[in-house]
Amino acid sequence: SPVPIGPLDTVLLAAPRSFCAGVERAVGIVEHALAQRGRPVYVRKQIVHNAHVVADLEARGTVFVDELAEVPAGATVVFSAHGVSPAVRSEAARRGLDVIDATCPLVTKVHTEARRFAARGDTVLLVGHAGHEEVEGTLGEAPERTILVQDVADARTVEVPDPERVCYLTQTTLAVDETEEILAVLRERFPALRGPGSDDICYATTNRQEALSSVAEDADLVLVVGSANSSNSVRLVELARRGGTPAHLIDDVSGIRPEWLDGVRVVGLTAGASAPPWLVDEVIAALAPAEVVQRETATETIHFTLPLAVRPS
Ligand code: SF4
Repeated sequence: SPVPIGPLDTVLLAAPRSFCAGVERAVGIVEHALAQRGRPVYVRKQIVHNAHVVADLEARGTVFVDELAEVPAGATVVFSAHGVSPAVRSEAARRGLDVIDATCPLVTKVHTEARRFAARGDTVLLVGHAGHEEVEGTLGEAPERTILVQDVADARTVEVPDPERVCYLTQTTLAVDETEEILAVLRERFPALRGPGSDDICYATTNRQEALSSVAEDADLVLVVGSANSSNSVRLVELARRGGTPAHLIDDVSGIRPEWLDGVRVVGLTAGASAPPWLVDEVIAALAPAEVVQRETATETIHFTLPLAVRPS
């Protein structure tokens, strides 16, 4: 059990934090698949980018694989919340796998836009991070018409075949402020730039950033619960630091270094969209503050239904 690290005056708890609707759904899909189809259930890539979620599902009979080639013929495979490219879908169909798709509906929306924009002849500027699974999936919709823009420098130099026919899409888990800067450069360079109907940065990402900004400005230190490969969690740490508050990403309570807390009276605490709520409770217990003050900047009521493949009848 965790050793108390406190005493501390205050934990300022950001709300919303932790699981989003897309992660709840993805984890629920694997749990239902295990219950309905029995073990093992294969999952392509990490179902969500969190070490604890993955370890827990592994212990319950889930086998995580990097590629479909590792899934035996006829087995059940779940596609992760981050989505897959059409090439992966075709391969699964070709191999006769029993596919359950846990792609977040808000990622699917971006795929639909990518197809629509590419079909009308546009070049798609996809703002996102190279190598992230979501970006690889979205890029796969129209690889010959999509160009990845990672930062302001890319935005300043990217060339398109026809500047009159250019649009943008974004990864769902980017920093809102950085993305605005990138889009401002693109709009200036390509006045005809068109975008999606509404922003691709999802509600959960936006809400967690807004909540964190609010607590970070009154905190001496910010702790973000989340895994290192979780895009939205890493963005929260960067956001706090850009605002001038020291911040660290921790997978769980064991990641806290006592020296971080030297002279610290107020800790701002949040968790990325893939980090389970109980990890936050453990951190609070270890910090043992005199008071816990929650600051809620938005209420989330969004909920996604399970796909038919696992919906209980
Ligand atoms: Fe969906 Fe946003 Fe959650 Fe990603 S962070 S799973 S896009 S709701």
